[in-house]
Amino acid sequence: MAMIDLRSDTVTKPTPAMRRAMAEAEVGDDVYDEDPTVHQLQELVAELVGTEAALWVPSGTMANQIAIRAHTRHGDEVIIGRDAHIWRHESGALAAIAGVQTQMMPGYTFTAAEVRAAFKGPGDPHTCPTQLVAIENTSNMGGGLCWSPAQLVEVTHTAHALGMHTHLDGARLWNAAVAGGTTERALMQGFDSVSVCLSKGLGAPGGSVIGGTRDFIRRCLRLRKMYGGGMRQIGILAAAGLHAIEHHRERLADDHGNARALAELLVGRPNVRVDLAGVHTNIVMIQLDRGTPAAVVDLAREVGVLLGTAGAHRLRAVTHLDVDRAGVTRAAEVIAEIAAAL
Ligand SMILES: *Cc1c(COP(=O)(O)O)cnc(C)c1O
Repeated sequence: MAMIDLRSDTVTKPTPAMRRAMAEAEVGDDVYDEDPTVHQLQELVAELVGTEAALWVPSGTMANQIAIRAHTRHGDEVIIGRDAHIWRHESGALAAIAGVQTQMMPGYTFTAAEVRAAFKGPGDPHTCPTQLVAIENTSNMGGGLCWSPAQLVEVTHTAHALGMHTHLDGARLWNAAVAGGTTERALMQGFDSVSVCLSKGLGAPGGSVIGGTRDFIRRCLRLRKMYGGGMRQIGILAAAGLHAIEHHRERLADDHGNARALAELLVGRPNVRVDLAGVHTNIVMIQLDRGTPAAVVDLAREVGVLLGTAGAHRLRAVTHLDVDRAGVTRAAEVIAEIAAAL
């Protein structure tokens, strides 16, 4: 039975064309800064996100954690959105490695007024100086939600006016750009640094890129070595990233259409609630009124549909390169039938 795997957009397998690009990549030792394919990828991403420089790293987690470490000192505070990936899904690295304290906003997106209210300046010996605002776009736990460009401008301006730095966790910035009919570069304005993933919807087997000023990227390079992320003939993976950007970026619109189709098929079915207006990109959150998401996951697996959970009452379904419209249609039927019978 061919499984319909909606657990995440990380489950995609490299296509035959991507594997060919990887096999044919020109490589060198990237720790010696001698890999031409890595250079090409870093230049392309810097161009797309509009930063002076960029640095390839093995994972999105390492990209975020290096960037946060480079912006802060131990004992500083970072403002984050609700259930931010850097806090919830990066193994406690913010505390364990960056050594920062977090101030979590109540919403997946937040306002300049909330940032102003949360900010603690460096003068008070009893508080922890708020040094960084980190924004996730799209918001993963927010169901692939996109920030409005106006809100990004407002929040980043306020952060800078208060003397803070700004970091964009853009693991799915590609999706936000396609969904908003805009560019990565436009969504990145106002940020001092960004991390983007090549291994989510773009479908590469690994790799993320940090963007920032030349000086910032130099500091990140040292941290990458310290964190064990310096790799050798890694142009093989960079070639997959280049192929992914060239061939799989525009088609993210298909994933968004499939996510919307899945959500629409679930609207009005018993025991499931889907907020159609909240489906901006390739993630669909499905709220259950009774029964547990884990029970649905187990039963769906038996009939060939793999789903994820997001908290105690929500299922998470993510569309990607390796699921088509027929797949999401079948998945919607399976979810609706199982949920109704719980
Ligand atoms: C996946 C993800 C990351 C981290 O990426 P990994 O490569 O899995 O470490 C960071 N932020 C968000 C929002 C993500 O979805």
